[in-house]
Order: sequence, then structure tokens, then C-alpha cells
Amino acid sequence: MKSRTPLVAGNWKMNGRQDLLAEMAQVLAGYDGAAEVVICPPYPYLAAARSVLPATIGVGGQNLSDQDDGAFTGEVSAPMLAEVGCGYVIIGHSERRALYEETDALIAAKFSRAQAAGLVPILCVGETLEEREAGDTEAVVCGQLQAVVDAVGIAAFDRAVVAYEPVWAIGTGRTASPEQAQEVHASLRKSLAQNDKDIAESLCLLYGGSVKADNAALLFAQSDIDGGLIGGASLTADSFIAICQAAE
Ligand code: PEP
Repeated sequence: MKSRTPLVAGNWKMNGRQDLLAEMAQVLAGYDGAAEVVICPPYPYLAAARSVLPATIGVGGQNLSDQDDGAFTGEVSAPMLAEVGCGYVIIGHSERRALYEETDALIAAKFSRAQAAGLVPILCVGETLEEREAGDTEAVVCGQLQAVVDAVGIAAFDRAVVAYEPVWAIGTGRTASPEQAQEVHASLRKSLAQNDKDIAESLCLLYGGSVKADNAALLFAQSDIDGGLIGGASLTADSFIAICQAAE
């Protein structure tokens, strides 16, 4: 029996409109399960999400600036996300690392800004297929995590979530097997334990990468998997709620 509260977060990416929000609000109003549930729609819908979703459902941004204010056209800051009702923010998603060249240093700076504004960072780590095939999975993901630990301090992980998202499984329909995912989660927890045992034990570790209603339960049953970060399947209310139920 795990002592950590399960969490399921839906990352809409650049998808969804107000009608999806309305549908989610309706379906999630009937959700009274034990998992913590978070919806991360695009920026323009965050304030509306906070007002239409039940108060028990969290709202999160998908990214944030490493600055709080200023001449940074197109950017959105942590205090802004907090002011419109976000409680969480995704940081270091592999799409941001690959498409926008986000470095570990920038990711760590965003992590600090998020926490300073009272947001819970959902820090993503994950290896590419090439890295997995080269046998570098553990070194890559633990390295990405440790880079942030070194920059912000282990104590900050008391108020954070980490999501393991193998890049080769994101949006591909190719899910890591429960055993593959568990192996990496155990490595991540072990590597954090070298910094602080209690924080490592209590940290919520999500799996992300082609999680669907029909594979979620087996993934979430693994001892070090505490829930999921869900992309494609978070765009359909029925599949998203089924995944939330699988996390209980
Ligand atoms: C994601 O982008 O965080 C993700 C897990 O996507 P998908 O579920 O579509 O693989």
C-alpha cells in the first residue's frame, strides 16, 4: 500500500477549446475519488478553467517564464499563473527541451520561480530512444533530476512532483511497459534518496507517455508510480476520468 496520494495531471498541450473545458467541468464534477486531479489547458483558458472546474480539481500551466515581470513579449510568469488560480505548472516537458532548447539551468530557474509564487512544479525528465538504446536511460533521467536538485536544493522537492516521460513514448502510442517504467522510477527515487531519504520516499513520481484508459491501472499499480501525466488521453473526458479512477 503506497502512502503517497495519487495524482493525475492532464496536459492538453496546444489543444482544446472552451467546449472541452465545459465538458471536462461537467464530467469532473462527478469525480469524488482519492486521486488528486489537475488540468493543464493552454494559457488563455486557465482563468476559465479555475472558475468552471470543481474546487477539488487543480489547474496548472504548461510552462512559465524564468522572470516575474518585464519586457519579455509572449511570456507568462509564475505570479500571473498563481493569480489566475493555478496551483501547478509543468516544467521541462520534453517538447520544451527539444523544440525550445530549454536547458537544465533554465528549467531549474523556472522551478524556483514557480515555487516562489506558491506553485507546485511538475518537473519532467525522460530519455530519447537513442539514449535508451545506448543504455543511458538511468544516467540521463537521474542527471536531469540531479541538475535541478543541485540548483535549487533538495529541500525544494518537498513541494514538487516529478514526471518520468520517456520521449519515445510521448504521443507515439508506444507506452513503456509497467516493468520498464517501474525500473526508471525506482532509479529516480534511489538517486533522490542519496540527497534526502524522506523527501525521496514522499515524492510523488508520475509516469507519462501514451497512458490510456486500458493501460493505466497496470502502470499505476507499480510500487514507485504514483499517477500519470496524460497528454492525448486527457483530451477526451471519458478516457481522462477512467485514468483518474485507475489511479485510486
Ligand atoms: C505528454 O505530452 O506529457 C504526454 C504524456 O503525452 P501522451 O500521453 O499523448 O503520450
